[in-house]
Amino acid sequence: MKPLLPHLLFGSVTFEESEEYQEFQYKFLIVVMVFGALFTSFFIVADSIQLNPLGGPHMRSMAFFSTLAMLLFAVLRGRKHLFKPVAWTYEAICLLEYSSALMYVPEDELRLLWFFVNIPGVFILLGKRVGWFITLGTCAGLTLGNTHLSHPYSLPAMATNMAAMLYMGAFFHVYSNRSISYFTRMQAYNTKLHQLATHDPLTGVMNARAYYERCDQLIAAASRKNEGFSVLFLDLDHFKAVNDTYGHAAGDWVLKAVASTVRSSIRRSDAMGRVGGEEFSVFLPATASETAVEVAESIRQAIEDSMPDIGGRQLKVTASIGVAACAGTGQTMQHLQKQADEAMYVAKAAGRNRVSVLKHA
Ligand code: GH3
Ligand code: MG
Ligand code: MG
Repeated sequence: MKPLLPHLLFGSVTFEESEEYQEFQYKFLIVVMVFGALFTSFFIVADSIQLNPLGGPHMRSMAFFSTLAMLLFAVLRGRKHLFKPVAWTYEAICLLEYSSALMYVPEDELRLLWFFVNIPGVFILLGKRVGWFITLGTCAGLTLGNTHLSHPYSLPAMATNMAAMLYMGAFFHVYSNRSISYFTRMQAYNTKLHQLATHDPLTGVMNARAYYERCDQLIAAASRKNEGFSVLFLDLDHFKAVNDTYGHAAGDWVLKAVASTVRSSIRRSDAMGRVGGEEFSVFLPATASETAVEVAESIRQAIEDSMPDIGGRQLKVTASIGVAACAGTGQTMQHLQKQADEAMYVAKAAGRNRVSVLKHA
């Protein structure tokens, strides 16, 4: 279970490994909105006890901002797909709030600072293009609006504001470029590491550990749906002779070709792993024994038909396949794999290049 505070703030929302930057943006926006609402509430309390009087119009704007920020938080919490519209709306109410301070709190000369604080958030939440749009829009708005203020800023003060704001934009442009490229690279490394950890480098199919893990998940799903499933265990015939006759490199080439032949003979929803040197296992969800035997037979035939000539000699590669089927539930992969193994040895003993089946009720 998640700790209480993160759960209260972010709700039960999950992100894929590839959505790391989006997760950061989602959490950042929630924290900024809650913090913004609380911070504004302090000003409202300070005003109501006469600690920091702000005046009626700005108080109303603060109350509006605080309420809307909490409302936006409630809307976004647990709904990551609403991130963009919520981020835009929040940015709009921030600009309204800062403009209200600019107009209604003239005694605070530093109130312009809020427009600066706003810029990093826009670059992070809405990207570089919107970041520049808001930065330049704020510069233009402040310049045009200055003369309409009850206490306009002097020309040098305005020039300093503009320069500092453009500097801020440039700074965060570079920063967000860098951090996005960092996230993208980390993501690529993660994907590569995951691929290396779960796949066999020679044939590209799942390695034994990843395959058995996947089978356990498929068996759990099958038992929830009360569905049967089957396992095929495939061992190449006299493969030592292929290595001895044509060399180890040719043997490797054959293994790759066999893996691709098997892959193209099964459904996308089936799982396949290289579980030994020249041994492959295939898990067929929602497949009864008869269909599994048909699939195994088509794989056997495809392997027999697929081999090319090497150095003018027809390469003969065949496979013996054992089939084990489970009609009910409560069967472990270990047990089923063992049965498929036994069935495969029956096929070997019967002369190889054939399919043999063991049934389990
Ligand atoms: P059988 O019909 O009884 O299965 O005969 P077999 O020669 O295939 O016997 P076995 O299954 O015991 O031999 C497996 C051979 O597969 C031994 C090994 O040289 C070869 N092998 C295992 N892994 C690789 C590999 O990655 N590349 C190559 N080229 N050969 C491999
Ligand atoms: Mg073997
Ligand atoms: Mg073999």
